Amino acid sequence: MIVMKFGGTSVGNAERLKKVADIVINHPGEKPIVVLSAMAKVTEMLIEGTKAAERGDEETFYEIHEKLREKHLGVIHDLKLGASLEREIKNLLEKILNLWEAIEALGEVTPRALDLISSMGERLIVRIFADYLRSLQVPARSFDADEFVVTTDTHGNACPIFSDSVELFNRKVMPWIKEGGLAVITGFMGKSRSGRVTTLGRGGSDLTATFIGSLVNAREVWIWTDVDGVMTADPRVVPEARSLKELSFVEVAELSYYGAKVMHPRSLLPVLEKNIPVRIRNTFNPGFPGTIISKQTKEQKGIVKSITYIKDLTLLNVTGRGMLGIPGIAARVFKTVSEKGANILMISQSSSEQNICFVVKKHEAQNLVDSLKKEFELEIYRRDIEGVEKLDDVAIISVVGAGMRGTPGIAGKVFTITGKNGINVIAIAQGSSEFNISFVVEGKDAERAVVALHRELIES
Ligand code: ADP
Ligand code: ASP
Ligand code: MG
Repeated sequence: MIVMKFGGTSVGNAERLKKVADIVINHPGEKPIVVLSAMAKVTEMLIEGTKAAERGDEETFYEIHEKLREKHLGVIHDLKLGASLEREIKNLLEKILNLWEAIEALGEVTPRALDLISSMGERLIVRIFADYLRSLQVPARSFDADEFVVTTDTHGNACPIFSDSVELFNRKVMPWIKEGGLAVITGFMGKSRSGRVTTLGRGGSDLTATFIGSLVNAREVWIWTDVDGVMTADPRVVPEARSLKELSFVEVAELSYYGAKVMHPRSLLPVLEKNIPVRIRNTFNPGFPGTIISKQTKEQKGIVKSITYIKDLTLLNVTGRGMLGIPGIAARVFKTVSEKGANILMISQSSSEQNICFVVKKHEAQNLVDSLKKEFELEIYRRDIEGVEKLDDVAIISVVGAGMRGTPGIAGKVFTITGKNGINVIAIAQGSSEFNISFVVEGKDAERAVVALHRELIES
């Protein structure tokens, strides 16, 4: 069995949905299991509308609602689909509006409510696409993944749980597949054990696809997107970037963790355990084989495969001479961070033990500074710790490739290139996997650094 996931741009309008239908229908052999993301921009609009409702900005959320209506009803019209689907879609659209009006009345939105609303884009598109396939005489049925993808209750960034989900999937979806039906499943969402709708984090449909791949022991999972596979850099930043034929799970995990949007950062976990290969392919260039991601790839010595970056980060620095020798400072720093639910993207501690610095998302930073100052009140009073500093608007750049392991001199090359281009390196990661070198620069230098590194390490 093959699971095929199509991303937002691939289902962005009627023409593209026709292409997707072509790909699905013409796939030889068994019917693929299809996972869809919301139409391009829809999840964004749902989140924006929810924020507008929270601040009582009726004009904005009505306007967004109208756009959502036009987008979805427009596709139904263009694909010449019937009245009963239209009614179903209108009902869902009305539910969104009702939720926004309730949020406006309450003046606040909970993470649960936000997840419920964010999941609507996927609910809308699977119904439309399944109906379109039926209009082409393909036996297709849409499924909402909150019926069988059981997740942790970490709203906005939930993790699917295999043991809780597999039996539900077998009961709710498998009979349809066994009958020869085509299943069209919502990406991005699940349901917590307590029965609330959750979402798997932005870009989470990739994770839905690999997770379903693991539930059915798929032969392969194909992620259909808008570029020719995983590339040597984000083609929007480096026009010279080219697609890579093969990569290992670990390499792609590193790339996506460090910002390559082409895959959700946690999406390789389910397939890694079961050793299910993943292919990244281009809906706009379906003849192209794309990238295959698997356990074993030929390791090319010394080869840098791809360069990636994440922006809008903050570097936090806990400093002080008195930290030397006080046991447990690092443990308390990281405990405080984890209690706040923040995610550390990179850590670096200088060997003199006089500072611990780490990088988090910018929007989480101020809250952490306040919590850390509280945690270390006594040490700060005693001057053992000088303070907690914050440097906003930094970026992490990562140079990735399994062949870098044990190859001396790559770090030297990397930092020669940044130096030559006048890019100031603020911190370097310590003890990372050897598949990557990661370092922090000012946000304004990020794209320039990626372009320079790509030119000298990959193009040449
Ligand atoms: P989808 O909607 O199909 O999930 P995304 O926008 O989430 O698509 O991911 C695809 C985008 O990821 C590409 O358009 C590209 O700009 C970006 N991207 C970033 N880094 C890379 C990379 N190394 N290789 C390929 N694409 C990348
Ligand atoms: N629609 C969701 C998002 O925009 C999930 C996805 O696209 O994978 O984040
Ligand atoms: Mg995506």
